Amino acid sequence: MTMQRFRAPFLFDGTRLRQDVAVVLDAEGRVVFVGDDSQRFESVPEIALPPGALVLPGLVNAHTHVELSAQAGTLPRALQTTREGADESAFLRWAGALVAARPSFDADARAAGRTAAAQALVRFGTVLVGDVTNEASTVPCLQAAGIEGCIFHEVFGWNATRLDASLATIAAEMPEKKAECAAAGFRYAPVPHTPYTTAPEAIARLRALAGDSIGAIHFLEHAAERRALEGGEGAAAAWLESLGLTDLPWPKQPAVDYAAALGLLDGKTLLVHLTVARSDELSRIAAAGNPVVLCPRSNLFILGFLPDLPAVLAAGAPLALGTDSWASNDDLDVLGEVAALAAAYPAVPLETLYTAATWGGARALGFPDRSHFSVGARPRPFAVPLPPTTDPLRTLLAHRHLPRSPLGSS
Ligand SMILES: [Zn+2]
Repeated sequence: MTMQRFRAPFLFDGTRLRQDVAVVLDAEGRVVFVGDDSQRFESVPEIALPPGALVLPGLVNAHTHVELSAQAGTLPRALQTTREGADESAFLRWAGALVAARPSFDADARAAGRTAAAQALVRFGTVLVGDVTNEASTVPCLQAAGIEGCIFHEVFGWNATRLDASLATIAAEMPEKKAECAAAGFRYAPVPHTPYTTAPEAIARLRALAGDSIGAIHFLEHAAERRALEGGEGAAAAWLESLGLTDLPWPKQPAVDYAAALGLLDGKTLLVHLTVARSDELSRIAAAGNPVVLCPRSNLFILGFLPDLPAVLAAGAPLALGTDSWASNDDLDVLGEVAALAAAYPAVPLETLYTAATWGGARALGFPDRSHFSVGARPRPFAVPLPPTTDPLRTLLAHRHLPRSPLGSS
């Protein structure tokens, strides 16, 4: 591998769109030069790009569940509704259908689903993922596809004896898991599922086990979660009761106070969804510095409404995007999330959304030197040949099917 250079008619550099920009990458794919005049690099081999091509840094899908991919296209989709008018049981119905059908997907089907997901992620130009796993089965297929990122080993349950046993196993296996993941380009952390499906002692212990690592939790995804946490009632509490979990020690305090008491507002736990979070809650989250990961198409699929993007942006929390699992989305293309948010919130600058899908996601996952075009960064870029346009970021959203070709050595 040698140095390579290209001149991009359009370049999204990780924060903004630029025109007619020269880029030089070293043999490891790190940016040596980005700017107008690359004359001193004339001897470096040049990759020719089609006229009108848009170059982007590799995409970051900050929240997905690759291991659920076999169930893509098999689950019912919610009717479109509003945050206020939503059916509180929508999430529980979707999750119930997912879990009930899971045994009908055998080991081969699950493996084929994982492989298909990894290949799809690469085709979309994804270079980093935040992948949630219960089976810890996804690293080999992601590594084979050249994807890196965070593996979030998810734990849930309320049974103290069972949780003690699984946390003891995780603690014992963690040094080996971390080393295995690191060798494949991944960072490993055990994480809780949600504050209402994981007992508080376990959440605190998982955060301690993860140490300095970036963690994650699904939080304030739907109204039934809030009602369970804040009042010990509603559809989620009733669902857990129907599973035999009666008299759970519900915190009965504001959800964000509870998250803070559990040590989750630590600036390094990704708060995923926040679909029903209010402005005051988002402000506290932003003050703590926790990255927010929105999964808008999954919210539409499962709940029928979108997160309040303007409120998230007004609060100023670091923003990343994820597709969530293929079982609650049309595809694993994080630009599909950009498109959904852009369509619903046309006043939000597209550059803000593309940043969340690239460098914002990389920073949230703890890889700040990826997915942007500063000197020294490793963008792992791709190019898309667009039809003639003066607004390439918008045009790409209407042409997501166009081929995305990796550029330079990765
Ligand atoms: Zn999820």
